[in-house]
Amino acid sequence: MPAPSPQKPTSAPPARGEPPVSALQQPVTSQWGVGGERAAQLARLKIQTVGDLLLHRPRRYEDRRHFRKIAELSATEPGTTRGTIVALGLKRFRGGSRSVFEIILDDGSARLHCRWWNLPFMQNYFNMGDEVFAYGKLVETKPRTLDHPETEVIEAGEESSIHINRIVPIYPLTEGLPQRWLRGLLWRTLARYENEIAEPRVGQLQVGQAFLPSRANAVHMLHFPEELTDVEIARRRLALDEFVTLQERIQERRQRFEARTRALPCQGDNRLMKPFLAALGFKLTAAQTRVLREIRADLGAAHPMRRLLQGDVGSGKTAVAACAALMALESGFTVALMAPTEILAEQHARNFKKWFGPLGILVRLQTGSRKDAGAELTAAKDAPLPALVIGTHALLTGGFNLPRLGLVIIDEQHKFGVAQREQLVRKGAYPHLLVMTATPIPRTLGLTLYGDLDVSVIDELPAGRGGIRTFVRPADKLPQVWKFIREQLAAGRQAYVVYPRVEEEDRAAGLKAVLKEFETVTRALAPFPVGLLHGRLKPTEKEAVMAGFRGNQVKALVATALIEVGVDVPNATVMLVENAEHFGLAQLHQLRGRIGRGARESQCILISGAKTEAARERLQVLAETGDGFKIAEADLKLRGPGDLLGREQSGLPDLRFGDLVEDLDLIRQARELVRQNLK
Ligand code: ADP
Ligand code: MG
Repeated sequence: MPAPSPQKPTSAPPARGEPPVSALQQPVTSQWGVGGERAAQLARLKIQTVGDLLLHRPRRYEDRRHFRKIAELSATEPGTTRGTIVALGLKRFRGGSRSVFEIILDDGSARLHCRWWNLPFMQNYFNMGDEVFAYGKLVETKPRTLDHPETEVIEAGEESSIHINRIVPIYPLTEGLPQRWLRGLLWRTLARYENEIAEPRVGQLQVGQAFLPSRANAVHMLHFPEELTDVEIARRRLALDEFVTLQERIQERRQRFEARTRALPCQGDNRLMKPFLAALGFKLTAAQTRVLREIRADLGAAHPMRRLLQGDVGSGKTAVAACAALMALESGFTVALMAPTEILAEQHARNFKKWFGPLGILVRLQTGSRKDAGAELTAAKDAPLPALVIGTHALLTGGFNLPRLGLVIIDEQHKFGVAQREQLVRKGAYPHLLVMTATPIPRTLGLTLYGDLDVSVIDELPAGRGGIRTFVRPADKLPQVWKFIREQLAAGRQAYVVYPRVEEEDRAAGLKAVLKEFETVTRALAPFPVGLLHGRLKPTEKEAVMAGFRGNQVKALVATALIEVGVDVPNATVMLVENAEHFGLAQLHQLRGRIGRGARESQCILISGAKTEAARERLQVLAETGDGFKIAEADLKLRGPGDLLGREQSGLPDLRFGDLVEDLDLIRQARELVRQNLK
């Protein structure tokens, strides 16, 4: 394949508005020595262009200015050494199907055996007398042995300044691609293109700042740092650029949205709100009132509201949602409320019917198993009623439409992706949007995932809550725990008992399943009636179980994490979670939010089968704090963003250098930079 020649900037100026084709966008095959096979290998590493190559991030570095003597190699931490091959050979056994290839290095201090099992082709890479680097830790000390070490043969004279006597990058590789070859390619490519690496601009502003190196320098430092501390400096610089790109995308999306939308006037006139608040039975907290002021201002503004409402479990987001809905209803619009589960949708429907029925507002449910709302409302469109439709994903289905949709409310946002949120909003002519979440989203994630939303926070729980005490206990304390729960049930309380699995236990991981444990719990809590709730039940069965629990005929509910969101039974004051180590901290915090809803103190008991001290300590965070933000931060640090938000969450950015856990300062800086420019 003939390699296309490098595109030098031509003398003719580029057409207006089109940026010149960057030298970095050339295919990597334009580089000397990158032919078909090498190109295919690079493509497997997602390296297509010169620019991709320059951003190929080393997975570690080796300080080849200092070596360990073979005699100093350790069995506990890996190290780099070098020596001369004094013996080598391949041994085959079991009729030739298995083998071990071995080289012996000598550096004058000791001898080192390097072994490769069942990789006979390794013998092609080494010759007697070769000088070799080896990186690894000892698996045996008599004789000193490394298994499958990373090695490199030092070639006499050739490019010696690249591969030794400096800190060298060790790259992620793919089958057949030699470390030395890739390092050489990067060295040459850097030398040739470093000056082409431009400083990204946000409008007139330059991204690079006095305390960070230029992008070109950062790329250089990434591959061939002078000191190991340079690597982190380079990473931060490149991360900043990533966050700037991300923020530009977010803020441009918001600007485009504002440019093409006019808001429906949904402020309301208090006609329904007044009687609603009077009948509610409690006074809104100061935080709820403040958030409602923010929402009301949005509903009267020129552009549709796009607001994220964060509030810890039990902070009273539903009442806020109800007030927001009333504002739109008063203004003559319909409102849609989407919840992640049928149980939750049904619970909302029950509450809202109780609240809104007396005000003459039609409340309808649209879930997978009930699809009446659409037809009814469409039929009523000639004489639009003030109507609220509550539903699950079923609200998103193609055929379902709402006349005069003024406000969309999404409960437990983290269960839905951005795409679903937009799908629902598209059902109307740019209705207002309020998304609610009880997962306290750490700032880093909030700014990246929800950067296009305004944020309100309910940071206060309603008064008169009994509070929750949380205990972490090993499994052998279960008998005492059952006794405690029986006492609580005898005193009139109710309890949740939670397991990670529905049906199949996971023996290997020691995970228990509700179907099997139901018997155990029934026996342990006899004579109190016990209910069973999990995702495989039919909707009507789930509803019946929940009705029994709500009605206090069922005293204890054996359930999966299905009850995690939203379920509200104030008389339930005890929760037992088995295999608690299996859950994320944020998820456990959500789970325990099912209790502590009444005036009495509640108890949450986490049974940990965790084998390690670290895993038990992780759970201990829950015993120590009830602050959802602290817990979410801890979870983010321990398990990463994917786990915190749940697998359903799409839209986590694909970052090569940026770190959503550590880089809050950079994210803020990027956001500020982009904001200043867009103003
Ligand atoms: P979440 O924010 O977790 O969705 P909910 O909206 O379910 O919380 O509210 C939890 C409980 O608190 C409900 O029983 C609700 O009626 C009650 N509640 C909400 N606001 C107040 C308030 N201002 N004063 C007293 N109780 C309240
Ligand atoms: Mg809720």
